[in-house]
Amino acid sequence: MAPIRHFFRPCRLLGFFLLAHAANPVIAESTSTTSPAPTRSTPPLTPITTTPSVPPESTAKTGSPKPASVPANPLQGRQPSKPVPGPTNDKPIKPPAIDRIPQTSASLPKTELPARLIGSIRQVKPYQSQKLVALTFDLCEGANEKAGYDAQLVNYLRTQQVRATFFAGGKWMRSHPDKTLALMADPLFEIGNHTWTHGNLRVLRGAVVYDQINRAQTEYQSFRTQLFNSAYARTPDAKVLAHIPAALSLFRFPYGACSTESLAAVNKMGLAAIQWSIVTGDPAKGQTADRISRAILQQIQPGSIIVAHANGRGWHTAAALPAVVTELRKRGYEFVTVSELLGRGEVVAADSCYETKPGDNAKYDRLSKTNPKR
Ligand SMILES: [Zn+2]
Repeated sequence: MAPIRHFFRPCRLLGFFLLAHAANPVIAESTSTTSPAPTRSTPPLTPITTTPSVPPESTAKTGSPKPASVPANPLQGRQPSKPVPGPTNDKPIKPPAIDRIPQTSASLPKTELPARLIGSIRQVKPYQSQKLVALTFDLCEGANEKAGYDAQLVNYLRTQQVRATFFAGGKWMRSHPDKTLALMADPLFEIGNHTWTHGNLRVLRGAVVYDQINRAQTEYQSFRTQLFNSAYARTPDAKVLAHIPAALSLFRFPYGACSTESLAAVNKMGLAAIQWSIVTGDPAKGQTADRISRAILQQIQPGSIIVAHANGRGWHTAAALPAVVTELRKRGYEFVTVSELLGRGEVVAADSCYETKPGDNAKYDRLSKTNPKR
């Protein structure tokens, strides 16, 4: 069966890649939730010295107390104070012994962003009212933390052949190298830019905005180079690599928050700013699978863009997916990546960024204000 073959393909691909590069056996993606503890965890993140330092995001600190006045962020979620059952937290894994990630120059889309993609894209009106839907999952990671990876969620998408888009932070990519490579190499999925360290681009100004965007582009480019230089790229299976674009062309603002300046900067860099029309609310600890599926199934329209999380902080997202996918397919919906969706309908964009209505994410401004380097 094709789904079964596909399920194993990323593992085989990854295994090949890692075996070709690692001195010791490593743990492949599909077993990450059950594997024994490795001898060491992921490598320390080395700062990039050629660009200005990026202020850390204070709320992203593991275990840092949250001021009572700061609202819960439904778009990133908080680091649990201690490990708790729930979304699959990333197990420590032994990283592939791939030398250092090469630093490359900025990799931006070569072409100017088409006028129809300017602005903050909330959904699409598909031509002929085709029942298309884009599932999107953010892979957020702040400056002083290591986020996780929801293997159950990703493996479900693979077994059911559900196309989806992942908005990955550059630092998330660096701290999850094998997951990044496997997601990139999987033709089911598309990757988008979610800044370097989840900076609030509604608050940040000037060069740091460019830096947040550009570092994630560069990180992606480095991983792409690794894939294309790997032994895997010389095998017949490597045909799948042809789908991997040279540069990321989609962008998602952390907290769903932008300023006029940063929205213009993203678009000027050739990136389409993708928001959403349906919020799952999965970072809220009290969220349930039932409420997530109801939120989606009650609001779904042809061309909907759904936001959820796959960084180990989407609560019960993986548990909600089977009911959502089954029901939407029953209703005739086709799951597509965001780029596919953009190409198959009329884009609906706003001139500002918001969660469900204009101005509702200004409450996250204070998250960056707590950062003295801002
Ligand atoms: Zn995020």
